[in-house]
Amino acid sequence: MTTAATESDAAEPLACWCCGSAYREAELVRLGNHPEVGVCLRCAHFLHQQARGREDALHPSPATRVRDQFRAGRRVVMQRGWHQKPVIGRPLRWLGRRLP
Ligand SMILES: [Zn+2]
Repeated sequence: MTTAATESDAAEPLACWCCGSAYREAELVRLGNHPEVGVCLRCAHFLHQQARGREDALHPSPATRVRDQFRAGRRVVMQRGWHQKPVIGRPLRWLGRRLP
């Protein structure tokens, strides 16, 4: 099994089915019933956040409303590009990875 992973790592980069960027096999997550589909770790985290949002919408509660506010704040930051600013960008990206 380790040998197969090493061989695939040496192969040419594979495209993420979500963002289209090139990655090594070790950097992709495969779907269970469709192993031909691989998404990069970054897109996998994005999909996880999207899934949490859908779950929260299906089962509203005070906790889901708080998470909705965090998600709304994240959208504002992304739309305005604050996460790419030189000084405030790094802490915002750090915070964004840790918030729901
Ligand atoms: Zn991706």
